[in-house]
Amino acid sequence: MATLLKAAPISQRIVKDLTYECTQLKEKGLTPHLQVILVGEHPPSVIYTRNKKKFMENMGATCDIHKLPEDISEKDFLEILKGHGSNPKNNGLFVQLPLPSHLSHIDVGQLVPPEKDVDGFHAHNLYSLLSGDKGDNSLLPCTPKGVITMLQEHNVTLEGKKVAIIGRSLIVGKPLTLLMTNHNATVTLCHSRTENLKEVCQNADIIVAAIGKARFLDNSFLNKDKNQILIDVGINHDESGKLCGDIDQASVEDHCALLTPVPGGVGKMTILSLGENLIQATKIQMENSHV
Ligand code: NDP
Repeated sequence: MATLLKAAPISQRIVKDLTYECTQLKEKGLTPHLQVILVGEHPPSVIYTRNKKKFMENMGATCDIHKLPEDISEKDFLEILKGHGSNPKNNGLFVQLPLPSHLSHIDVGQLVPPEKDVDGFHAHNLYSLLSGDKGDNSLLPCTPKGVITMLQEHNVTLEGKKVAIIGRSLIVGKPLTLLMTNHNATVTLCHSRTENLKEVCQNADIIVAAIGKARFLDNSFLNKDKNQILIDVGINHDESGKLCGDIDQASVEDHCALLTPVPGGVGKMTILSLGENLIQATKIQMENSHV
């Protein structure tokens, strides 16, 4: 039976550290502040932003959600985003995605100042990742950062490991490929056109599923050694509405060594990374203001 890599024990320690960091910053006169922009009432987005606000307040930071109407014009939206970007009170800023269709062509990640880009999507931060950074010199995308933290907390070293990542999105698969490469893993990035996907997975030490298909990966993707590590990024609902990942947990649990649960795995790590990025962003701005 696989050991479950749960986020809860890691979360407790990291939240304690983040709370301490917030207290230290407050003593220097700066309360980390996260500004969120939410357009419309997309139900999952409303829940995500509410959870993020609660998390920030729990660690001692402040967070505002600027709710904008679904039919806001592009001009007004861009003006509001620009205003939040230049407001010195905002240490972190992000726009909750997805945006309504008339705004979805806007690359919001590029319109947030890089030092406030707690989502890690600005070209400056992504270029740092491309250049070999592990997060010391830039704000990392939250989910990839959370996956690395989870592995590190469970003493899984990446150096020399073979990793198969399934899913090449800009928010998960691509940045995670770079980040794991920067940690000296050998990464194969897979997608819907990958041939022999099962064989690629069977040859990997670590498999990351970021596909968006309920229980896609079962034990037929695994080798017989029962020593593989499975990271489930997926957040899906099955036919009966039950929350589940991209990995069929019941099918794989007797065929691998370590497995992240859904819920209680990578999703929770993502929000921890957001908290870490807010503290890092606040410190960067503090240093910049002293130069
Ligand atoms: P996208 O829809 O942007 O990308 C899905 C990827 O999966 C694509 O690259 C696609 O390939 C690939 N794919 C689809 N079908 C197959 C297949 N049959 N075989 C191999 N590859 C396939 O997804 P996201 O990265 O945005 O999200 C993935 C999942 O992770 C979702 O469930 C999402 O909810 C979840 N998620 C969870 C987060 C967390 O915090 N835990 C954060 C972000 C996302 P192609 O490019 O060829 O189309």
